[in-house]
Amino acid sequence: MAELFLYIAIGLCFGSFLNVAILRIPKNESVSLPSSHCPICKHSLKWYHNIPLLSWIALRGKCAFCHSPISYQYPLIEMFTMLLFVVSFYRQESLTQGLIVATLFALLLALSLIDLRYKAVPDLLSLPALFLSFLTHEPLLALQNGLLFMGAFALLRMVISSVLKKEAMGEADIIIAGIIGALLGIKLGCAAIYLGAILALVGFIMVRKKGYELPFIPFLSLGLFVTWVFDTQILKLLEIMYE
Ligand SMILES: [Zn+2]
Repeated sequence: MAELFLYIAIGLCFGSFLNVAILRIPKNESVSLPSSHCPICKHSLKWYHNIPLLSWIALRGKCAFCHSPISYQYPLIEMFTMLLFVVSFYRQESLTQGLIVATLFALLLALSLIDLRYKAVPDLLSLPALFLSFLTHEPLLALQNGLLFMGAFALLRMVISSVLKKEAMGEADIIIAGIIGALLGIKLGCAAIYLGAILALVGFIMVRKKGYELPFIPFLSLGLFVTWVFDTQILKLLEIMYE
């Protein structure tokens, strides 16, 4: 039980860090300086205003100084990150593996939000995520599968780009493919990318605006997360399908 609380606390704190990272990294601002401040009145926050989730609830979503409303994004991301940590806690056998995977998923959450908003993904977040994925399971096997998926995706990107005669997918998508291969292995990794592509297609049909370039990372990440959570069920399904 104490371990679960540890996960919850780390999840909330990491979510709080990601809030800052999502706002500052795409603008090339430092993550540590200046200290957190209200975006409206620029007043520096006191340490107790930085307690994840609780301070937002205590302040009822308003700045302590100028009382302007604080975006829902902050408590939502903190809560979501915490949930990713809780799910990882229950899905993993060892504490360290759970923390590695949870941190990896939390980074993918931040990358997805940045991709949705800016259509560009900072290496500062994607490369640590790739590195973490190589530490899952047996590191050597994870590295091998990760590199295999990155190579396959790079090749796929070249082919699609030459057929469409324009740049298809981003370089960051190749990194995400590497993470998928490392974390899931070949069979489940293919299932995750297939699922991600279907989800992206649904998203594409739903927004369907001319000239709108659908970001791929949120869908790939979602495909990865769903496949990771339901790995046994998906493996069973694959067995039935290919019997
Ligand atoms: Zn303020």
